[in-house]
Amino acid sequence: MNRRKFVTRGTAGMAAMLVSGASVGKSALVTPETEESGASGLQRYDLMKEVMKYRKIDTHAHIYWTEDSPETQLDYGRRLGIEKQVISRYLDVMPGTPDEFRKFNDLTIKAIKKYPDHLLGGFVLNPVYKKESLDEIKRCTDAGMIGTGELYYQVKINDPKYFPIIEKLIDLKMIIHSHGECQLGVGGYRMKYNGYKQPNTSIPEDFVDIARRYPEGIFQYAHIGMGGDWEYECKLFSDYPNIYVDTSGSNNAENMIGFAVEHLGEDRLFFASDNSYYQSVGKILAANLTERQKQKIFFDNYNNLLKKGGRGIDG
Ligand SMILES: [Zn+2]
Repeated sequence: MNRRKFVTRGTAGMAAMLVSGASVGKSALVTPETEESGASGLQRYDLMKEVMKYRKIDTHAHIYWTEDSPETQLDYGRRLGIEKQVISRYLDVMPGTPDEFRKFNDLTIKAIKKYPDHLLGGFVLNPVYKKESLDEIKRCTDAGMIGTGELYYQVKINDPKYFPIIEKLIDLKMIIHSHGECQLGVGGYRMKYNGYKQPNTSIPEDFVDIARRYPEGIFQYAHIGMGGDWEYECKLFSDYPNIYVDTSGSNNAENMIGFAVEHLGEDRLFFASDNSYYQSVGKILAANLTERQKQKIFFDNYNNLLKKGGRGIDG
């Protein structure tokens, strides 16, 4: 299927989802098909007007080494009314040496310098190298980065090697964003985290452990839409107010966002794409939420935390 057709169908699908949503309320809505059929008494639903109505910060996006990056990411952002994108290049190499993470961060620094109005930078590091990681936090902060990018699988987020890093990030009032995984079980049996995974991949229990140790830390659990057990994640995190979840990922079961709000409250979700752009906006619009809740998820929740560190976005 070519891209244009895919986009068109995706948009119609999203409109149809909204038609069936209880949140729509007052007036009945129509898809382009029903409008063409001449149904009376119905108002046209302008999907793109709805998309562009909300200010948005994409709190989890990535750039790549390819020639069309970050321009491709910026183009998606512009078309979906995403005002700022928090970009990083996750450290998907082992062992993840200082030379490697500096090179990855250099890519991000170059991008945010080129597009300072649209891109916010998140740095990556590897706590196995304590001194180099602490030095890198300083270098990246001086270069204008706002917090961590998606920290990866070299070391579990609750490993003591992370303690000095996390303490530094708390001093700087920065958000600590990390990849996490939670495999779905089959027939009630939870799979062990020993199959085809890097052994130090963080799991939800690791986030709870570190969030309890550092209640003043601000933790962003990446991508509840990644394809893991989001119900388990949200239930487990419900009692830990310093764990936030980002809504990104390409697997988006119906009611995932509503379920997350129900268990975490409306202040602990961050809008994010992880580069699945259309889904990222569609799943929030399609959720059974109030206007205010959508505004908070798309923009305010994250911005309020940025403001605490003096890095807020104006207005
Ligand atoms: Zn991830």
